[in-house]
Amino acid sequence: MVRVGEIQCKTIMGRSGIGSVEYAINPYLGCQHGCVYCYAKFMGRWGGHVGEEWGSFVDVKVNALERLRAEAARKRRDVVLLSSVTDPYQPLERERRLTRGCLEILLERQFPVSILTKSDLVLRDVDLIRELESCEVGFTLTAYDDSVRESFEPGASTVGARLDALRRLSDEGITTWAFLGPMLPHLSEEGLEELLNELTGSVSHVIVDRLNVKSGIMSRVSHVLYERYPDTQPLFKSALSKGSGYYSRLKREVAEMCRLRGIPCNFVY
Ligand code: SF4
Repeated sequence: MVRVGEIQCKTIMGRSGIGSVEYAINPYLGCQHGCVYCYAKFMGRWGGHVGEEWGSFVDVKVNALERLRAEAARKRRDVVLLSSVTDPYQPLERERRLTRGCLEILLERQFPVSILTKSDLVLRDVDLIRELESCEVGFTLTAYDDSVRESFEPGASTVGARLDALRRLSDEGITTWAFLGPMLPHLSEEGLEELLNELTGSVSHVIVDRLNVKSGIMSRVSHVLYERYPDTQPLFKSALSKGSGYYSRLKREVAEMCRLRGIPCNFVY
C-alpha cells in the first residue's frame, strides 16, 4: 500500500545536472515502482520520509503545473527530462495526470522533451508526444526475465509491456531508445541476446550502465539476492569487487551483440 501525500514545490523545472539535458521535471516525490537499486531513494529525506521504505510513499506536487507555466515562460528553450528522480508514468499518474499536464505546457512553447520511464502508461500521451517537434522516449530495461523485474522493480510495468510499448511508439514514428541499466551481475545477462533481438528495429540506440555500489543501495540489493537468488549471490558480489573485470568483459560482449544487430550502443561506465 502506497501512502500518497500532497506537497507544494518551490520550483519544478530545475537544472538536470545531466550532460545532454538542461532541465529535469519531477512531478512526484517518491516512486511507486520501488526499484531495489534506485539511486534516487535519498530523495525521501527531502519530504520528511526518513526511515520510510522507498516505494511506500509518493508526494504529489500539487502546484507543479502552475509553477511550470510560470517557469517555462521565462526559461530558454532547451531539452527537458521527464524525469530524473521519480518515474513520470508511475501508477498514480493515471489518476493525477501531472506528467500529462507538464507535456501540455511544454508543447505550447515546443520545448524539446526526453522521457525516461519503466511504464507503458506513456502510451496514453502519444497524442501530445506526436505533436512535439522534438521528443524521444526511453525505456529502462534491466533484464529480459520478468521474474528479475518482479524482484528488483516490483511496481513497474512488465518487461513484455515495456517492449510492446517501445514497438508501438516506434511504429508511431516516435524516436525511442533503451537504457539497459543498471546491469545486475549475471542476472541481466540471462536472455540478453533475446532482449536485444526484441529491441532491434524499435530503438535508435541503447545506453548501458553498470550497478553503482557507491550509492548506499547494497543492503537492499543483498536482501533480495539472499531471499530470491541465493545461488547467484556469491557470483554477483564477486563481480562487483574491485579488479574482478566483470563489467569490462560485459562491455565487450554487449558491444559485440549490439554491433551484430546494428544497434548503436554507448556505455556510461
Ligand atoms: S522507476 Fe526510477 S525513480 Fe522509480 S524507483 Fe525505479 S529507479 Fe527509482
